[in-house]
Amino acid sequence: MIEYMQALQIVMGKAGWPGAPERIPLREAYGRILAEDARAREDMPPFDKAAMDGFAVRAADLAHVPVTLEVVGEVAAGQSCARTLEPGQAAQVMTGAPVPDGADAVVQVEWTNGFDRATVTVERAVRRGEHVSPRGELARAEATLVAAGTRILEEEVALLAAAGLDPCSVARALTVAVLSTGDELVPPDETPGPSQIRNSNGPALVAFLRGVGAIPVDLGRVADDETSIASALERGLEHDSVIVTGGVSAGAYDFVRDVLPRLGVEVHFDKLAVKPGRPTVFGTRGRKMIFGLPGNPVSALVMARVLVQPAFEKRMGLARPGPRRARARLACAIDKKPDRLWFVHGVLDTGEPLSVAPVESRGSADLPAATRGNCLIVAPRGESRVEAGEQVDVLVWARSVG
Ligand code: AMP
Ligand code: MG
Repeated sequence: MIEYMQALQIVMGKAGWPGAPERIPLREAYGRILAEDARAREDMPPFDKAAMDGFAVRAADLAHVPVTLEVVGEVAAGQSCARTLEPGQAAQVMTGAPVPDGADAVVQVEWTNGFDRATVTVERAVRRGEHVSPRGELARAEATLVAAGTRILEEEVALLAAAGLDPCSVARALTVAVLSTGDELVPPDETPGPSQIRNSNGPALVAFLRGVGAIPVDLGRVADDETSIASALERGLEHDSVIVTGGVSAGAYDFVRDVLPRLGVEVHFDKLAVKPGRPTVFGTRGRKMIFGLPGNPVSALVMARVLVQPAFEKRMGLARPGPRRARARLACAIDKKPDRLWFVHGVLDTGEPLSVAPVESRGSADLPAATRGNCLIVAPRGESRVEAGEQVDVLVWARSVG
C-alpha cells in the first residue's frame, strides 16, 4: 500500500507534455487549455475611445463652467470623425466611438443641456482624460493577454475574440477510453434484471473527462471475463489513455490488475492507503496512462478527481493542475480509522472564515451523499479523529462554488 501523495507523484511523473498543439476555431475552444501565450495583435483598445455618451471636449475649455461650446459633429460607435477639435468646440460622441483629435476628455450628456443642438452648454468641468479609454490602456500590441497553460473559460473566450485570436492554439485534447467492467451492469436507459444494476461509472467518467477538457470514448460495459477484459483494454489502448472501472480488487472475478502486464502495461501501483479508492491501479504503456478505478461509484469519481484529473491536466499543459486545495475550519468532528487517508465529501461554506461540514455517508456506493457534497475533506492517515474547529485541507472544484 502506498500513500496518496506518493501515488500522485508517480502519476504526475508519468504525465508528460503531449507534443504539438492544434489550432481550433475559438467557438470550440471553451474548456481547452491554451498552448501558446496569446498575444495582442494591436493596442487594446485600438483607438482613444469614449467611455460615456456625451461630448468630446478640450478639458481646458471647461475651466470656468457653465460654458457654451460649438458642436461641430457627431461620432457614433463604429464611425469616425475626420476633423480636429479646435478650442471652443465639442463633438457629440457615443460610448465606444473614437474620440476626435484635439479632444482630451468626454463630458457625459447628463452634465449638459443635451444632444442635437448647434451649441452645448456644459455645467461641470472634467479632468483631462476623463471618460476616455486611451488607446492601449488595456494592453499594448504584442503584450501577453493570456498565458500558455490557462484553461479557456468565458472571460478568456471574450478576450481572445476581442484580440482576434481565432483560430487559437490549444493543447491537443487527450482521447480517453472509458471501460466499465461488471457482469451485473446494464446501460442506464435499460431496466435492470433482478440482480443487475445500471452502469453509472461510464456516464460519470464521460462527464468528468469533458470537464477536464479531454475527449471521452465510451467503450461501454465489459463482462467479468479475462479474455473479454483483455481485448476491451487492448481496444482502449488505441486511445491516449484508458480509465477502467471495477474488477480491480481481490474478488474471484477481478481480472483487470492481472491482465495489464500481459498487454505490455507496466503497473506502478495497485493499492493505495486511501478511503475510498484502496484498489486503485495505475500503469503505463509508453506514454499511455491506464487507470483502474474501483467499481463503487463514489470511489471511482473520488479517485478520478484526486488522481486522474491532475495527471490529464498536466499532460495537456495546464499550468496549475487540479484539484485545488483550500484550508477550512471543520464544522464537526470526523471519526475514522487511522490506517488510511480518508476523502470525505463535505459541504464547503464559502463564508468568512471558510468552514466545511462532512456529509453523512453510507460508504462508497452512496451517490446521494456525494451529490450533497461540494468538496472533499482530506482526513489524514494516522489520525483516528479530526476534531471540530481544526483547520483541514479541502479539495475543491467548480462544484464548490456552483
Ligand atoms: P468491483 O470493483 O467490480 O468489485 O465493484 C464494486 C461495486 O461497484 C459493486 O457493487 C459493483 O456492482 C459496483 N459497480 C461496479 N461497476 C459499476 C458501474 N460501472 N456502475 C455502477 N456500479 C458499479
Ligand atoms: Mg466487478
